[in-house]
Amino acid sequence: MGLRIERIPTLQDSYSYLVICEDTQQAAILDAAEADPILMRIESLGVQITKILCTHHHLDHVGANLEIAQIYDVPIYAHASDAERIPGFTHGIEEGDRIPVGNIHAEVLFVPAHTRNHVAYFFPNKPALFCGDTLFVAGCGRLFEGTPAMMFDALRKIEKLPDATEIYCGHEYTEKNLRFAVQCEPENQALRVQWEKIVKQRSCAASHWHNATPQEMTIPSTLGQERLWNVFLRARTVEEFARLRELKDHFR
Ligand SMILES: [Zn+2]
Repeated sequence: MGLRIERIPTLQDSYSYLVICEDTQQAAILDAAEADPILMRIESLGVQITKILCTHHHLDHVGANLEIAQIYDVPIYAHASDAERIPGFTHGIEEGDRIPVGNIHAEVLFVPAHTRNHVAYFFPNKPALFCGDTLFVAGCGRLFEGTPAMMFDALRKIEKLPDATEIYCGHEYTEKNLRFAVQCEPENQALRVQWEKIVKQRSCAASHWHNATPQEMTIPSTLGQERLWNVFLRARTVEEFARLRELKDHFR
């Protein structure tokens, strides 16, 4: 059972994704941030959109929900407790729910911290995780509505997934995240090598994010890679995590 993932650059530095079941050509949109680039991609691929899956209510993740749901007449899924903040919300989901997309399915992880209703979607067939603004490549999301302990717990939940899990996050923040991380762990060779690679990769970035090529996108990484260089995932206590998050909040 094949599963294909399309990365769509949206807004300034956001990612929207299509998860496509190759058997049926049915697909889900993961975080409908901006309508036009998503609609163009759907059109050019000729896939059949069956649902929109939302990680959290921030506008740079759900801003195109209403427009796209109206065009394709599809339901919109998000955590049940976020019904009032998700535009066009139709289906409330909870930890452990299975959501079919053609012949494949997502499993729901409840990971409140960046917002109090944040969810992530794990597709075991790949495996791939769509984690919104919870785990970033080499970083983690800000704590707008949660505590350091909540994010620490969310990362522990993600940490249980297999090493091969591909990490698809909400934004292209990797270069800055790595610049912060090398300050935190100057002795970490894997981290330094990755930082140099990403600086090179991002130096040929398109002037407009919408035109970004696959070569300049740093997403996905894998969970196995994140274990080597993600300082937030590597923090072993809530206190250590909280200290890093505080430092990162003021990092320019
Ligand atoms: Zn957010």
